Amino acid sequence: MQHHRARYALRYRHFVTDPLTQLRAKRAEVTAELDQLAAPAADTVGISFGKRIGDGTSIAVERITQVAAHDGLQVTLAEIERAEAKVLDGTYGVCDTCGKPIAAARLEARFWSTHCVDCA
Ligand SMILES: [Zn+2]
Repeated sequence: MQHHRARYALRYRHFVTDPLTQLRAKRAEVTAELDQLAAPAADTVGISFGKRIGDGTSIAVERITQVAAHDGLQVTLAEIERAEAKVLDGTYGVCDTCGKPIAAARLEARFWSTHCVDCA
């Protein structure tokens, strides 16, 4: 389809009107979540003790889940920062690996995407 690119560009402009503002807001959100996860969950542990023997296991499991979430957030944060740089250098919405436009649906769902579905 020859008109594909033009139609894509229109859709893309339609839903990401100000990517830099959205990216900065998202970065603040992820940074806040990271801070929360990094902070020792003293209250949670205090409440859980005194309940029942065996809760230590669920605390450990919770901790592992938090570490995984933390790693995931750091990856997302790095991608957001890269996407911000791409807005500034004019390559936002273009895949970092193959140079093709990132699908509109993908950008709509994850506006901090820096790679197309094929290269992700
Ligand atoms: Zn690609």
